[in-house]
Amino acid sequence: MSNPYQHAHEEGDYIDSYYSRTLNVAKEFPELTDEITTPVCIIGGGMAGVATAQGLVERGIKPVLIEANRIAWGASGRNGSFCSAGFSLGVDSIVKKVGKEHARELCKLTTEGLTLIKKRIGARSELRAETDGLLNISWFDERAAVEKNIEQMNDIMGVDYQFWSRDQIKELYHSERYYDGYLKPDGIQVHSLNYTCHAAKQAEDAGARIFEKSVALKIRKHGDGWKVITTKGSVIADQVVMCCSAYIGNLNFKLSSATLPVATYILLTEPLGERLKTAVEGPYGASDNRFSSNYYRILPDRRLFWGGRVSMFNPSGEKLKKIMMDDLLVVYPQLEGIKADVAWGGLMGYPVHKMPQIGQLEPGFWYNQGFGGSGMTSTVAGGEVVSAAIANADERYKLFEPYGLNYAGKPFGPIVAQTAYWLFQLQDAYKAWRLNK
Ligand SMILES: Cc1cc2nc3c(=O)[nH]c(=O)nc-3n(C[C@H](O)[C@H](O)[C@H](O)COP(=O)(O)OP(=O)(O)OC[C@H]3O[C@@H](n4cnc5c(N)ncnc54)[C@H](O)[C@@H]3O)c2cc1C
Repeated sequence: MSNPYQHAHEEGDYIDSYYSRTLNVAKEFPELTDEITTPVCIIGGGMAGVATAQGLVERGIKPVLIEANRIAWGASGRNGSFCSAGFSLGVDSIVKKVGKEHARELCKLTTEGLTLIKKRIGARSELRAETDGLLNISWFDERAAVEKNIEQMNDIMGVDYQFWSRDQIKELYHSERYYDGYLKPDGIQVHSLNYTCHAAKQAEDAGARIFEKSVALKIRKHGDGWKVITTKGSVIADQVVMCCSAYIGNLNFKLSSATLPVATYILLTEPLGERLKTAVEGPYGASDNRFSSNYYRILPDRRLFWGGRVSMFNPSGEKLKKIMMDDLLVVYPQLEGIKADVAWGGLMGYPVHKMPQIGQLEPGFWYNQGFGGSGMTSTVAGGEVVSAAIANADERYKLFEPYGLNYAGKPFGPIVAQTAYWLFQLQDAYKAWRLNK
């Protein structure tokens, strides 16, 4: 698998991160070494692939899933852990493009995705943080805009987001940078690596066959179906579902060209003990609303788990720790001097239109990708609509038709996108200068 945006040494096992250090699902799946036959072959074992496998077994179809590295080795096992309904594209933009009712149907898929994630976690409370609720805080002094946004989200998404004044926020999050915001009371913080491994195990228990360290190298037409050639074996399938996201490499040109691999990062601090209270006291995961926002939460041992940035480059090690720590100190300068423990990055598959890409390239050749900033609930929504389409000829996947496989501009896309990110960051800085007196 070659991908110019991926460090070769990263391939294989889990990278060093909070998640791999706290992995508690011992299960390893075998490598595929035979030729096997299946009704459906899913390629890619991130949240999207695993959710598709779960959706299929729950509907009576036993698929094969092949993963190039380990289950949730990509974005799904490295992420910020914020799990809530909605897409990367704002509700107002969705309504503008497809109208209110269509937007409601799309958003409902992600509220149902959130419910399903909670159901699949079930009694395994260690897969999610103790306190529910995610707080979104405005970086800008524009209360009316925050209120309007909440009203629109509650209307279209059918949620109950609650306004929080700047005073309420500052009581728990002691940053001079913050203004008003809102709480998503149903949002949760998920241990995304353990969750996805646990979900893969659930799918296997229900009849799915799962293989790790089995790279799909080629996909060929085979009778009325497909043959997927892997490193040491092959899968003959009636239907194929592509869930490779930003790590797709050259497996399929059309799908690879439709998303930009965007890197984003997390920093884990040392345990901060009582000092943490000088900055963060709230139990809710918190994020701000800049284009390149920060999102963070407190872990039980009083570390800060700090995420942010989007970039086309891929810094690592000490350099990445410093970049992330500098961002943290912009928000909480009172934490000057704290130490970083580990920092890591992952790639998101980011479509230009910021909505998931779900559909068929031709009959029986499905794609389920482009979840970028839309995130975890939308991967589960994708898994549900694709599996329902395969099992029951359900047509809800067509809700995503207005958001197709737009060309993301490779090979120049990353340079254009990076320039666009810098421009967005400048816009945020200008907006803060204009509004925040
Ligand atoms: C640092 C970071 C922070 C994030 N924070 C959040 C957050 O807080 N909340 C949220 O909702 N979302 C967040 N996201 C986004 C979210 O993680 C992704 O949208 C989601 O995990 C995408 O899932 P996926 O299955 O599509 O992709 P991935 O998890 O990337 O999975 C794709 C898989 O396909 C496999 N693959 C690729 N090619 C092949 C092949 N040829 N053969 C076999 N297998 C192959 C890869 O090895 C990989 O495991 C974040 C992402 C990152 C990177």
